[in-house]
Order: sequence, then structure tokens, then C-alpha cells
Amino acid sequence: MVISSTGDFPNIDILIDNQKLIHKLRDNGMCNAFGYPASIKRLLCNPTEDIITYGNQVLRGLVNNNQGCRNYYDMHRIQYIIQYSIAYTIARKCDISLKKVFKKYHSQLIYSYTNDKGKDKTIKLALHSSFKRDKTFFSQWLSKIKQDVEYRYRDTNPLKRNCYICGNPQHHVMFHRRRISSLHMPYSHIIKEMIRINRRQICLCRECFIKVSQNLLEYNQIAKRKLT
Ligand SMILES: [Zn+2]
Repeated sequence: MVISSTGDFPNIDILIDNQKLIHKLRDNGMCNAFGYPASIKRLLCNPTEDIITYGNQVLRGLVNNNQGCRNYYDMHRIQYIIQYSIAYTIARKCDISLKKVFKKYHSQLIYSYTNDKGKDKTIKLALHSSFKRDKTFFSQWLSKIKQDVEYRYRDTNPLKRNCYICGNPQHHVMFHRRRISSLHMPYSHIIKEMIRINRRQICLCRECFIKVSQNLLEYNQIAKRKLT
């Protein structure tokens, strides 16, 4: 793997180590040491759709991540091994010839079945038709990780939210309610609203907190604001 960087625009030159990928496929039982495809014995008892799903997982893992590599076209061979290994597995499972598998399911291994819920499904191998190198792949990827991440405190820290009632962005306190089973009727207006929006706590400014604690606000004054 060679990474050379010049200035702001990195010229990334990564080579795929084909031999390493073939060894990976061999370890998964998809080919022999020379890259000759084989049926995956441990999957022979699995449903055909699972076998094709497995092929797609391997394709995704090995092929899609290498789109920016200089010798991406070498992935033809890796895809070929995966495609034929899956086809061999189906052939052995169904006890038919490889030729028949491709005739029946086409080169993409398009397979229709009914799932557990009785729904008709179709699955096929997500084969790439082209292995043209995507030269922008790594630079796009690099610029993405260099971008400043915008932290959204709203999701993690409820006290950074605005007051639920008046929208005041400062001086927050959390108003809590008990479980519904330990609340007593009649509910105060704020409790009614919290039950409506299914919250155990709600962020308020100090003023609104005091008002709702004494039930001084009408229900429609509280509920007029919708949560964003
Ligand atoms: Zn307020």
C-alpha cells in the first residue's frame, strides 16, 4: 500500500493485494490456493437465499471498499471467484450442474423465494458491471473525514434545549414527573402534556418551571409548542 500526499490534494495510490484477497476467500472456503472457485461446504444445508446473501456480504466487504485503488480492475477476478463459488454451492446443494444453475438463475443468480412471513422475495448477487477506477473515491473520503463534525447537543444534553413552553434558550432546569401509576388525579397541566408527549422529563426555563410547579399555566399555554 502506497500513500503519497502532495499538498491539499492527496494523490493516493493504493494497490490491491490480490493474493491476500484470494487467501481470504480460500480461508472462507470459496476457492483453493490458486484462486479456483469451490463450493462452500458449510453453507450447503442453508437456504439458497442465505447462500446468495453470503456472496453479497463478501462482495461488499472485498470489492466495494477498493473502488479507489489503482488496480481496481483486478477485482474482476475476485468477483468472478465469489460468483462462481456461490454458483457451485447452489449446484451442489441442488445436485445439478453449474451450467444448469446459470441457466436457471442467470449469471447474477436471481432467486425467488417466500420468506417466513409468507412474502415473495427476490435476491440476486450484486455484481459490478464495471471495474473502472473511481479516482475521486479516496479524496472524497479523506475530505469527508477532515470536515468538522457538528455536534448536536440537543440529542445528548437535554439541558441545552430551549424551554419547552416559551422557547427561552437559557437557565434551564429539568421538570420530572413520576410514573403514571404513582401519579394522582387530577393531573396538573404540565403532567397532562408530558403524558401526551410520552416524556418523563421536560426542559424548562426557571420562570416556566416555577409557574408549572404551581399549575399557573393553562393547558393550551403549555401544549401550544410542538417538540421539534
Ligand atoms: Zn420558559
